[in-house]
Amino acid sequence: MNHSTKLFRIFGIDIQLHFSWWFIFFLLTWSLSTSFFPPFFPGYTQKTYWLMGILASLLLFISVLLHELSHSLVAKAKKIQVKSITLFFFGGVAGITKEDMKPSSEFQMAIAGPLFSLLLGTVFYFIYKLDVNGFWTAITFYLYQLNFTLGIFNLIPGFPLDGGRAFRAILYAYFKDLTKATRIAAGGGKLFAVVLIMLGIVGLFGGAGGGLWFILIGGFLYFIAGVSYEQVVVKEVLSSISIKELMVSEIPTIDPAMSFEEFLQNHARKGDDLFFVKNDTFAGIIDVKRLQPLSQKMQQLLKVKQLSLPLSQIKGITTKSNAYNAFHLCNEQNVDVLPVLEGKKTVGFVTRKAITNRLVLDLRFGFLHKKVLGGSGK
Ligand SMILES: [Zn+2]
Repeated sequence: MNHSTKLFRIFGIDIQLHFSWWFIFFLLTWSLSTSFFPPFFPGYTQKTYWLMGILASLLLFISVLLHELSHSLVAKAKKIQVKSITLFFFGGVAGITKEDMKPSSEFQMAIAGPLFSLLLGTVFYFIYKLDVNGFWTAITFYLYQLNFTLGIFNLIPGFPLDGGRAFRAILYAYFKDLTKATRIAAGGGKLFAVVLIMLGIVGLFGGAGGGLWFILIGGFLYFIAGVSYEQVVVKEVLSSISIKELMVSEIPTIDPAMSFEEFLQNHARKGDDLFFVKNDTFAGIIDVKRLQPLSQKMQQLLKVKQLSLPLSQIKGITTKSNAYNAFHLCNEQNVDVLPVLEGKKTVGFVTRKAITNRLVLDLRFGFLHKKVLGGSGK
């Protein structure tokens, strides 16, 4: 994630802090020190309340970090790569990358976080109950409640919450259809979001505190449930399209030694975007859309070769791969075209435009059509 600072590295995972964290940290510390601790635990100085607020905020964020770490450690035990954990505005997020996960692995991974939060809540509860020192009793009073809330909230079976992921894993194991499983689990997420919003509205009119928070969290959850479902559908559609279907074996070929001026006059203005620049010693691509403006003088001086991106600098895709991987590779390298490889030989090209056009078509007609006909589409 961008706008993040790396804090440290543990178990080979980078722990990062998103800049929004600072905002929440100050807001939380401020509200704890001024309005939470004083009425519940009277008799301390203002300075002590601030210290309580800072410590409680820090320990809460450590709790969130431990929640995310428990997801990540289960993932690692399942040989799933975890690059980083980012602590941000609404909590934490673990950067777990895995194409196809076994339902049992996803279930255990999803459930580990909330279970750890409940365990942590229990530990804080016992420290609170011991009541050895008023200062720590106040802090643990807050922390046991928040960790229980974190655990229980995340166990709700609405995707993309942890409980929703676990629920989806069960549905996936049962239906063997990830899109269907995600649709149902995301439906659970939306339903829960609507309940939160309604509770929030009732709270607002009833004068109970926290109504606005319920509406905000509900709205956010409704939004991400929709987006997460779409992401899964897009991935499913693109993964089912083979590179061979989208590949073009020929695009207009230009001699690298041609002047840019001639290229512009005789080729580029005909309307193609992409050109294969090739002779015996050089192979590259010219993407007309990405060319910078050039003075008349430069247009005459420069050769096509100097304005093209050498193929050796673009990571290609194999004919056996699929459109989902190609789309990722385009984004990763910030290019609109990839060479298609068979062994080390370039046998064609696949463009970002071809991928998105096909995606739009399949979403509108093909994919749903296959579902209606009951075919697997693969
Ligand atoms: Zn979680």
